[in-house]
Amino acid sequence: MLKIGIDLDNTLAPTTETIIKYTRETKKKYTFKGLNSTKQYTIEEKEKFYNFVNQTINQQHPKSFLPIKDTVDIIPKLAKKHKLYILTGRTHKNEKPTKKWVDTHFPKQFQKIVFSKYVNVEQYIKNKGQRCKEYKIDVLVDDVLDNIWDCHKKEINTILFDFNKQYSWTKGKIPKTTKIAHDWIQVSEMIEEMDV
Ligand SMILES: [Mg+2]
Repeated sequence: MLKIGIDLDNTLAPTTETIIKYTRETKKKYTFKGLNSTKQYTIEEKEKFYNFVNQTINQQHPKSFLPIKDTVDIIPKLAKKHKLYILTGRTHKNEKPTKKWVDTHFPKQFQKIVFSKYVNVEQYIKNKGQRCKEYKIDVLVDDVLDNIWDCHKKEINTILFDFNKQYSWTKGKIPKTTKIAHDWIQVSEMIEEMDV
């Protein structure tokens, strides 16, 4: 049995894809580093940008905002053998829509949804490595390199999630021991290999 920390945005939920779609449909001016693109977002104020992201995600109906491919089959299988925790950068401000989404697609599969707290945007009270230590996580699945490095330095196993090799933001230097998964079938195989 392993304790597995699973990130939410872009690991379980297709967040960036959804925001790009929303931005196009509503002709909003925000553009940012998207799928297969190295372009950074152009909004100057980070806080404004994050509010926009939160609003966009929070107003998606859970029934039409579907999780990433294969997660609905694989998460329950993993939950039978392991203890699963969602470790998200989202704050308690987003608790209600986040819980609703998780309960819709993954009812009773997770031990807990661990939200973040900010001092400022992107400045966490506790970063992911500290959260993983707190919950005694054996392996973290995440799409953000900072989180991967942070956990690696704390000797936690890491799987970098780069769905269909489309996540431009994952293409940096990674620790030697970090595995890269391109879909959830690969994630589950890697977890089974670790659990021996
Ligand atoms: Mg993420």
